[in-house]
Amino acid sequence: MRRFLLASLLLLAAFGCSRRDANRADIVLVNARIHTLSGDINHTEPDATALAVRGDEIVYVGGDDGAQAWVGEGTRRIDLAGAAVLPGLVDAHAHLADLGHLLREVSLFGTPSSEDVRRLVMAAVASAPAGTWVRGRGWDQNDWAEKAFPGWRDLAGTESHPVVLERVDGHAYWLNQTALSACGITRDTRDPAGGRIVRDASGEPTGILVDEAQELVETQLPEPGPAEMDTSLARATRECVRLGLTGVHDAGTTRAELDALRRLAEAGRLPINVYVMLDSDEPGLVSEQFARGPAEEFGGRIVIRALKLRADGALGSRGAALLADYSDDAGNRGLDVDAADSLFAGTQAALRHGFQVATHAIGDRGNRTILDLYERALAEANARNARLRVEHCQVLSPDDIPRFAALGVVASMQPTHATSDMPWAETRVGPERLAGAYAWRTLMQSGATLAFGSDFPVESANPLLGLYAAVTRQDAAGNPEGGWRAAEALTLDEAVRAFTQGSAWAAFDEARGGTIAIGRRADLTILERDPYQLPASALLDLRVRATVVRGAVVYEATR
Ligand SMILES: [Zn+2]
Repeated sequence: MRRFLLASLLLLAAFGCSRRDANRADIVLVNARIHTLSGDINHTEPDATALAVRGDEIVYVGGDDGAQAWVGEGTRRIDLAGAAVLPGLVDAHAHLADLGHLLREVSLFGTPSSEDVRRLVMAAVASAPAGTWVRGRGWDQNDWAEKAFPGWRDLAGTESHPVVLERVDGHAYWLNQTALSACGITRDTRDPAGGRIVRDASGEPTGILVDEAQELVETQLPEPGPAEMDTSLARATRECVRLGLTGVHDAGTTRAELDALRRLAEAGRLPINVYVMLDSDEPGLVSEQFARGPAEEFGGRIVIRALKLRADGALGSRGAALLADYSDDAGNRGLDVDAADSLFAGTQAALRHGFQVATHAIGDRGNRTILDLYERALAEANARNARLRVEHCQVLSPDDIPRFAALGVVASMQPTHATSDMPWAETRVGPERLAGAYAWRTLMQSGATLAFGSDFPVESANPLLGLYAAVTRQDAAGNPEGGWRAAEALTLDEAVRAFTQGSAWAAFDEARGGTIAIGRRADLTILERDPYQLPASALLDLRVRATVVRGAVVYEATR
C-alpha cells in the first residue's frame, strides 16, 4: 500500500496537472436530494446532496463540500436546487419496437365506443395510400357500454383498405371485412393451436382473432424495413429517456429489432441500456445466440442473455390460462400459447447455454405450468443463480406464491396492469381468485424479487405512473377510495426498488446498476421534486429534470 502511494505521488510529481485531472469529474451534481438506495428499506430522507461522475462511473457520493474537490477544468457542475436523484429507473418488461411503431398507427387508447373507433379509422383510411394496410392499437371493449367484442360489421365504411386493430393488451386483433378476406379467413378456417377465431352463432368469423390466431394476419402484414425499424427504435428510446428511464428489458426481441438496436448503438443513437429477451418465435436467432453464449455488446449497452417464452394469453381477451373456468365465460379456461413440452425444451436449452428464461404467464394455470417446469428444469440442470423469470404473474394460486422465492424465480410485474384491469378483473376471475391477483406485497413478503415495468405500449411507458399505481392501487382520479385490494400496495421505497434494484437483479446487473455508490454505473433519474416528500398524487405530474445514462446527460428538461 505504502509503495503504491509513493509510486502514485511520484507519478503526480512527474505530470504536473495530473493530480487535478485524476480527481476531476465530468459532471458534479450538488444541492440535490440523493436517494442512493444503499441504506435501509423504507427510508424517507435522502442520504447525500452531491455526487460526481467520471466517464460512465460514479466516483463520489456525499456532501456538497466534498464534491468541490472533483470540480476542475471542463467539469460540468449542476446545482440541482433540491431536485431528487434516484438510481436510474429501469422498465423490466417492455416492447421498444412496438412503442416506436405505435407512433405511426391510429391511436385507439381510451376510445369510449366502437363507433368512436370506426370514426378514427375512417379518417385514417381516407388519407392512407391505396392498397396499404391501416393499423391501429389500443381499443378495449371493457371500456365501452357494450362489453362484447366488436366485429367487422362495426367497421362498416372502411372497406377500401384492409384494417387491423390491435387490442390494448396486444392479445387480439379486430379486422374489417377486407382484412378478413385478404387473410383468407372463412368459416372453414380452423382455430390454430393456442388461438381462437371468434365466430358468431352461425359459425362465421366475426373479425376478432385471439392470441395465436393473430398469426393469420401477421404473415400478411408487410415487414418494416431497416430504416423504418431504426426510426421506430430511435423514437421509442428517446421517449424512454424523456420519461426518466435509463434502461429497458425488451420482452421478445426479433432479429430485425436486434440489428436495429446494434446499428443505433454503433451510431451513438441508442441513449438507454437494453436487456434483450430473444423472441422464441425466431428459432434461428435463438440458436445463433445460444451458440455464442451470453453476450454484452457496446460495453454492455446491449446485453443478450435471456429467452422469452409464452405460457398463455391475457386476461382482457380471456386468453390467460386458468385452473378453472372464467367466471364470465363458462367452459373457457384460456389458452396454452406454447405447449408445456416446448416450454420445457426451451428452458432446458437456455439453461444449458447459460441463458435466462423469461416466460409470459398471466393466469393461475399458466403460472403453475411454468413454475412446475422451471422446477423440473432447474433440478435436472442443477442450475444455480439462473434467475428464471415469470413475466406478469397476474393471477396466482395462493399455493404457488411461495414457490417464486423457493425457486429463485423473479416476479416481473407491471403495477399499471393492476389499475387498468381492476374495473373488470373480478368479473373475469371472481372474488376468490382475486386473493392471488396482482399480489405484489404477498410476493415480496414471501421473499420473491419483484422487478417492475410497464409492458409499454400496452400501458404508458411513464415509470412514475407505475410508482403511483404501486403505492395507491388507484386510477389517476384516485378511485377506488383507499385503493383496490390495498393490502397489496407497496411503499414508495419498495416500489422504487422494484424499478431499480429489482430490475438490476433480474438482468444480473446488481453489481453495477440499481444503487448509487462509488464504482457503480452512472445511470440516474433526476426528478424536479423529491417523491419521498410528496403525496402519491404528485407522482402523476412530477417532471423529469434530467436523465443520465452511463455518465451522459441523455435528456434534460427545458426550463
Ligand atoms: Zn409484454
